[in-house]
Amino acid sequence: MSTLLNSEISRLRGIGPQRAALLAERGFHTVADLLSYLPFRYEDRIRFTPIAEVVPGNTYTIQAEVTSGAAIRFARDRKRMFLMKVRDSSGILSVRFFYGAYLEGRLKPGMRLVLHGKVDMDPFRTARREMVNPQFEVLSNSSSSAGDEASADSTEVGRIVPIYEAIGGVNSRLLRRIIYAVLRDVGSQIPETLPEEIRKRYALPSRREALMYVHFPPANENLELLNSFRSPAHVRMIFEEFFFFQLGIAARRKEERAQTGIPLRVRDDKIRAAIKRILPFKPTAAQKKVLAEIAANLEGPSPMNRLLEGDVGSGKTIVAFEAAVIAIENGCQVALMAPTEILAVQHYLSARRTFAPAGYKVELLISGMKRSEKLAALERIRTGEAQFIAGTHALIEDPVEFSRLGLVIVDEQHRFGVLQRKRLMEKGASPHVLVMTATPIPRTLALTVYGDLDISVIDEMPPGRTPVSTRWLDEAQLPGAWESLRREIARGRQAYVLYPVIEESKQELKAATAEYERLSRDVFPQLKLGLLHGRLPSEEKEEVMERFRRRELHILVATTVIEVGVDVPNATVMVIEHADRFGLAQLHQLRGRIGRGSEKSVCVLIAPKNITGDARERIETMVATTNGFEIAERDLKQRGPGEFFGTRQHGDLSFHVAHPLRDHKLLELARTEAFAIAQNPARAKELHQLTAQLGPAWQKRYQLAAVG
Ligand code: ADP
Ligand code: MG
Repeated sequence: MSTLLNSEISRLRGIGPQRAALLAERGFHTVADLLSYLPFRYEDRIRFTPIAEVVPGNTYTIQAEVTSGAAIRFARDRKRMFLMKVRDSSGILSVRFFYGAYLEGRLKPGMRLVLHGKVDMDPFRTARREMVNPQFEVLSNSSSSAGDEASADSTEVGRIVPIYEAIGGVNSRLLRRIIYAVLRDVGSQIPETLPEEIRKRYALPSRREALMYVHFPPANENLELLNSFRSPAHVRMIFEEFFFFQLGIAARRKEERAQTGIPLRVRDDKIRAAIKRILPFKPTAAQKKVLAEIAANLEGPSPMNRLLEGDVGSGKTIVAFEAAVIAIENGCQVALMAPTEILAVQHYLSARRTFAPAGYKVELLISGMKRSEKLAALERIRTGEAQFIAGTHALIEDPVEFSRLGLVIVDEQHRFGVLQRKRLMEKGASPHVLVMTATPIPRTLALTVYGDLDISVIDEMPPGRTPVSTRWLDEAQLPGAWESLRREIARGRQAYVLYPVIEESKQELKAATAEYERLSRDVFPQLKLGLLHGRLPSEEKEEVMERFRRRELHILVATTVIEVGVDVPNATVMVIEHADRFGLAQLHQLRGRIGRGSEKSVCVLIAPKNITGDARERIETMVATTNGFEIAERDLKQRGPGEFFGTRQHGDLSFHVAHPLRDHKLLELARTEAFAIAQNPARAKELHQLTAQLGPAWQKRYQLAAVG
């Protein structure tokens, strides 16, 4: 690999130690790392739109000179805008930056700018056009030297210009200059990383060509193709990213397959009888199918690694419990890890109830336990007396030792990182692993996130469920919502009332604590209310939950602590205040707490009727459908995969160019190719050489250590 490409970024002109440190923080160490950072958008700066031709409602790129600019303060809300006027040879345009006070003194008359943004009507003076919150770049100001300007012009105007997202303090303009210089100096040395044969099959340009092209496309390229990441060069970079990602997965999978697991007896009358004894109801066809898939893994020679997917309320728990019976009847221990204490306790209680007829010893392990209790529990886990252990992260802490851990179950996997799953697995000798998630993941995405897992799907709800009906009301209609809540409670049902925050904040959101007091005192003085939020001590949380379960409380006022897994079928009403503040997946999970019995359930979302944009779309989606898969698709589109899976998973999904949803066809191709190559020992050496070209940082990123 070229030494220049491999050298430290700090050696480049324009990058001092401070900037180098910022870049390193974001994972950019070498010159090659920087080249892999692609523009997120392209601007046509060959043909700027003349100001005279700008029409409200559209987005434009213009080149213009600042004629005046000033910050404006509104006494009432302390919001400070920056207003400026710019002109080109065809006319004058106003530009408004909300919260733009910081621009004062920076954007000065005489500066030449490129502005990219949407043009609206000026709301204060009709019939005037203005550009609102544009992205902009200063091309020059009168004080800059002539030489500077010349070099600026070659990358900044007169071509299709790449726009990069700033990294730390390194803005798009600087990135563009640096990358331009790097490509000029070392471009010819960029090595190929994809196997020749694959490149030919899909007619992919070389890595060198592709990088030159995506950073500085030729003037005649179709802008739309570039901005939709569909140019041949983009396709090549996307394919490459998926290919190596999948190669890492394929290598790990091969390694796992080579391990010897704990083969369990499954076809056994005693086990069949034990399962029959614990089943509180008749399993659905989907539950039966999924159990058969699990059982086939359990009796196999290598450890199970399976993801169990099913919408909220589809009945994943009982399937996990059936798998547990198989393990326990084979003399193994089973650990079930849940993301919250509330959920861990719930699993503990329902395991005790479910396993009572079988006589298994069920244990709980959470950090909120009394020290003496915890020590006793640890001892029972160590000796093997405890057979089924439900718990939180506490399960993966150091002092926890199992006697013979045979099956690991992770509930609500999206809340945990891959590492936490691994830590729990390491508590046993290659135990079987079942991870469960209520986030219905489209198959293509599942392949990227959980590429090393087999997937089972419960695609059917238990019988007798009436779909939850969802209504959108605004604050003024709250009394009506309280009225229907009262009616349901009079019929013996229970209710949840949810808030986004715990304590009153400046943002004027109603807080759970204050509202609990107000509702108890003013609205429902004759009913029993409970309060549940994450900052309560464990014991108090458990007690409140237990009282709600025993129907001693009519209404549970809560924050999102109840988001995952809580199962109280008698609760049939849910009122979510400030519903516009919640994410789509979160709303779906919350709503999944009701509609769990045969009774009709109602969910009321409280949000202003005049909300717009994503928030409006979220509420409308919730009203329109209860289908988890549909909701997940829309959520993914709104947030992108990194956000969708939460920050903990972000590292697993930080693609630079590729986007698993948009590029799912390429993902499937890359996966097929990567898996085919990884299975072929004769090609190991070739692969080894290719991945060496990526450099250590990239090998690490794709977890390619095991390849070749
Ligand atoms: P989730 O998949 O969201 O974890 P649970 O396992 O908590 O769902 O199950 C939701 C509810 O449905 C529970 O009250 C459970 O007892 C019930 N349930 C599950 N399977 C069946 C079934 N086959 N028949 C009837 N009720 C079921
Ligand atoms: Mg669950």
